[in-house]
Amino acid sequence: MHTDRLTVVVAAYNEAESLPLLHPRIVAALAGIERLDARVLYVDDGSRDATWQVLREIASKDARVSLLRLSRNFGKEAALTAGLDLVTEGAALILDADGQDPPELVPAFVAKWREGFDDVYGTRVLRAGEGWLKRVTAHAFYRVIGRLSKTPVPADTGDFRLLSPRSLAALRQLRERHRFMKGLFGWVGYRSVSIPYERDARLAGASKFNLWRLWNFAIEGITSFSTAPLRLATYLGLMTALVAFLYGVWIIAKALLWGDPVAGWPTMMSVILFLGGVQLIALGLIGEYLGRLYDESKQRPLYFVDEFHAAGVEPPQRA
Ligand code: UDP
Ligand code: MG
Repeated sequence: MHTDRLTVVVAAYNEAESLPLLHPRIVAALAGIERLDARVLYVDDGSRDATWQVLREIASKDARVSLLRLSRNFGKEAALTAGLDLVTEGAALILDADGQDPPELVPAFVAKWREGFDDVYGTRVLRAGEGWLKRVTAHAFYRVIGRLSKTPVPADTGDFRLLSPRSLAALRQLRERHRFMKGLFGWVGYRSVSIPYERDARLAGASKFNLWRLWNFAIEGITSFSTAPLRLATYLGLMTALVAFLYGVWIIAKALLWGDPVAGWPTMMSVILFLGGVQLIALGLIGEYLGRLYDESKQRPLYFVDEFHAAGVEPPQRA
C-alpha cells in the first residue's frame, strides 16, 4: 500500500521546558494518520539551556526522531532553513516548539496535502496569551506587507505550514541571506490553502520575539519583498521640491513687492531642519537596502551544523 512521507520540522531555541510536553502531542497526532511514514526533525538553534539534552533524551526513546544542532543561534528563519534542507523526501510540516501551533491539527494539514495542495498554512483566528500591543502591531504589519508585496503574504499566518515535496524543492533554491520565510513561501507559488486555527499560549517560557525584534523583523519583511520605500523617498523628495519651489516664488514676490528687510531666522531654521530631516530619511532608506545588498554579496552560508543525528541511527562516536 502506498504511504506518504512527512517530516515534522521543529526549530527550538531554549525550549527545554516545552519540548517534553510537545513531543507526545506530535506523536499522538501523527499516530492518527493512515498510510503515513512520519518523522520528526528537531533543530536546536544554538540553545543555551538544556534543550539539546532534552532532545537527545527524546530521540533515544523514539527511532523516528532526527536531531540537528546548529553551531550557534542563527535565528528561527535560518534554523527552519537548515531543517527543511534535510527533508529530501516527502513533505515537511513546520511547527513551533512552544506548542503555540497545536500538533492536533496535523491530520487536517495532511488531508489538505492529499487533496493536492502544496502549501497548507495555518491562519490564526485567535491569539491567546499575547498582549494587545502585539496583536495591534501584528495586524498592522500584515496589512502593510500585504499591500507592498507583489506576491501574496497571507495575513495572520505564521510558519505553521505543510509544504509539498515540490514546493520544498523550490524553496530550497532560494538562498537569500535575509530570509523572510512568510514571504518566500508565497513567492514560490503553487496551490495554497489556509486552515484557520486558534493560537494557544506558550506551554512554557517566554517569547523570543520582543517588540524590538518584531520591529526589525517587519523591516526585514518589507525590504525583502518590496522596494516601495525607495519609491516613497523619490516622491517625498519631489513633494518637498515642489513645496520649496512654491515657497521660493512667494519669497521672491514678497521681496519685490515689499522689499527685503533681513529677518526670518525662524523660517530659515525650520526650512533647513526640515530639508535636513527629509534628506536623512531618504539616506537611511537607501542605507537599509544597501546594507542588505552588502550582506548578500558576501555569500556566506546560511548556517553551520554542529551535530546531526539521523532518525534511527546511532550517533557516531566523536573523536
Ligand atoms: N526560535 C528559534 N530561534 C530563535 C528564536 C526562536 O528557533 O532565535 C523558535 C522558538 O524556539 C519557537 C519559534 O521559533 O519554536 C517561535 O518563537 P517564539 O515562540 O519565541 O515566537 P512567537 O511565537 O512569540 O512569535
Ligand atoms: Mg511562540
